[in-house]
Amino acid sequence: MAKKKLKSDGIYFTGMSSEDVTGSQYYIKYGNSKILIECGLHQSASNDYLDSYKINNQKYKFKPSELDYVFIGHCHIDHTGNIGRLVKQGFRGRIITTSETAKIMKPLLLNSSMIVQNEAKILSLKYKRNYSPLYTDEDIYNAFELIDTYDGYNTIYTLNDNVSFRWFKNSHCIGAVQLQLILKDEYGRTKKILYTSDIGALHTNNHYVPDTEIPQCYSDVTIMESTYGNEKRKNNKTRSFDINHLCTAIDTVADRKGTIIMPCFSFSRTQEILTTLYDMYGHEENFDIPIYVDSQLSCEISKLYNHILTGENLEKWQKVCNWRNVKFIEDKEISKSIIANKSTKIVLSSSGFCTNGRIIGWLRKYIADEKSMVVFSGYVGDNPSYLSYRIKNYRDHKQIKINGEMINNKADCICLSTFSSHAGFDDLVKYGSSLNTNKVVLVHGSRDAKSCLAKKMAEAVSKNDKTYKIVESHKDMIIRL
Ligand SMILES: [Zn+2]
Ligand SMILES: [Zn+2]
Repeated sequence: MAKKKLKSDGIYFTGMSSEDVTGSQYYIKYGNSKILIECGLHQSASNDYLDSYKINNQKYKFKPSELDYVFIGHCHIDHTGNIGRLVKQGFRGRIITTSETAKIMKPLLLNSSMIVQNEAKILSLKYKRNYSPLYTDEDIYNAFELIDTYDGYNTIYTLNDNVSFRWFKNSHCIGAVQLQLILKDEYGRTKKILYTSDIGALHTNNHYVPDTEIPQCYSDVTIMESTYGNEKRKNNKTRSFDINHLCTAIDTVADRKGTIIMPCFSFSRTQEILTTLYDMYGHEENFDIPIYVDSQLSCEISKLYNHILTGENLEKWQKVCNWRNVKFIEDKEISKSIIANKSTKIVLSSSGFCTNGRIIGWLRKYIADEKSMVVFSGYVGDNPSYLSYRIKNYRDHKQIKINGEMINNKADCICLSTFSSHAGFDDLVKYGSSLNTNKVVLVHGSRDAKSCLAKKMAEAVSKNDKTYKIVESHKDMIIRL
């Protein structure tokens, strides 16, 4: 995309989310306004640091110093993780999000800063040249100073003469919203853009979040995610199926005095699994298996929940945290001693993909143990470069190398499939065919997912007596405004 083209009014699909499920970033120029929707980190599917580094370090096609606002729909790193670099490169506008997202973004971005600095060190050593980190903690602290929070759904907030917006409910995770931007140009013309960010289920099984709503106000363009847009990957399991599966797994492992290891992302999944375990066993006097939350970041975010949740949600979360079986492990030395003790226990540790964090220590010790079991509750990656993928596909990976050591992969492994925070295929079709819009652009999905969803949505749109266009995004696409 030539730089001069960015001068026309339009939506520019500058991020990797126009091609894949990663790196959300959309640049919008309308009249005198220059806006970025999200600034996510690209995380390479092949888990290749150099590939990710090169993409995340690409020169921006706009000037960060000229941006007025960055809007953030939710706090996951593929939507926020490159803000530090944007600030490092001169962004001084305002970051607009909800107060819940702002609170959770802080530990997540500082953790991301630690990871990008570490990856730059690894690359420098490996390729014997200097890879400077994408950003450092200082850039993250500078970004925090730029955050303005707005709460309340369906309320129009006016930022200046040309830029207004409102949020809509989204069950994707705590703090997540859908965004409608209302932009005016110098001639008084208006354009409305709806952005789903990642959307959660229309009727969610997950705790602490509202159901996703389908906005009915008119938008000229809707930018919609399509992660589960491939009908072939449709999940027909119910949450009660997963709970029964987990209950049987815990009974089996407890009988043989093994350990259940649950790799979980520190935000959202850890707290959801913990709450599910509480619902399953919290009222059983005889349930005496300890449940360890072994990750500093998971502990930190779990504490933050006490400052974010309100009313019944807060009451529920406090019951979970005060349950005598639950132990939050912040200290690394205590973590080591629990790993060494082979008594029966359930462990929730991060990261979910097993790429880094304390989960590595747990897996090194326990995947050779036939009495133990690894329980995944999310996507494990689609190729052997992910440790989670190799553990799950144990028939093809009887031995696994972890930190240079070959270990027999003998522990059982199961996957729970209903804990995803993304809307499933049927919900995507329903959402995408019930809008009041002129055009829907599908993003944040594989090529197969987008084309399958576009086809099914088009059928449903005409059934609903609607006429809007559905477009599949590609890198550097431009939608003129
Ligand atoms: Zn997300
Ligand atoms: Zn995402």
